[in-house]
Amino acid sequence: MRTKRTIENLGSLNKKAAAKLEPFIAQVEAFLAPKGVTVEVISGLRSWAAQAALYASGRTKPGRIVTKARPGSSWHNYGLAIDLGLFKGGIYLDEKKPAEADKLYAEIGKIAAKLGIEWAGTWKSFTETPHFQVTFGLSLAQARQKMESNGKDIQKLV
Ligand SMILES: [Zn+2]
Repeated sequence: MRTKRTIENLGSLNKKAAAKLEPFIAQVEAFLAPKGVTVEVISGLRSWAAQAALYASGRTKPGRIVTKARPGSSWHNYGLAIDLGLFKGGIYLDEKKPAEADKLYAEIGKIAAKLGIEWAGTWKSFTETPHFQVTFGLSLAQARQKMESNGKDIQKLV
């Protein structure tokens, strides 16, 4: 059963990205169900202002550093990325049992790879196991340029 949050976050995405990520989520749900684990899409499109607030955490605001991405430097700012959350018996595994979550993400990363979806668990500099994205061969610079020339419409990116 999908939560409202999952449905809304999938609905916030670029439509072509959603067309790839929706079946991915369905496969992840099928993989996790026998383990008694559920998945939520806890983040989808993130506005440039929200990205700025997130970037400030651990830098100019209290808290830990949660992203390396400045506004416009995250694929979330283009509606091409999602963050997942894994839950078991009401427990948020990512936070309470990160080792268990990461074992599951390693398997989820393989599902993503088969579908041509990029997993941030393989990134060298700043690994983000809950993060998945589809960039359609665009660089961030190209995405930014397209956004700035199309009135910041994420549906016109790809
Ligand atoms: Zn993310």
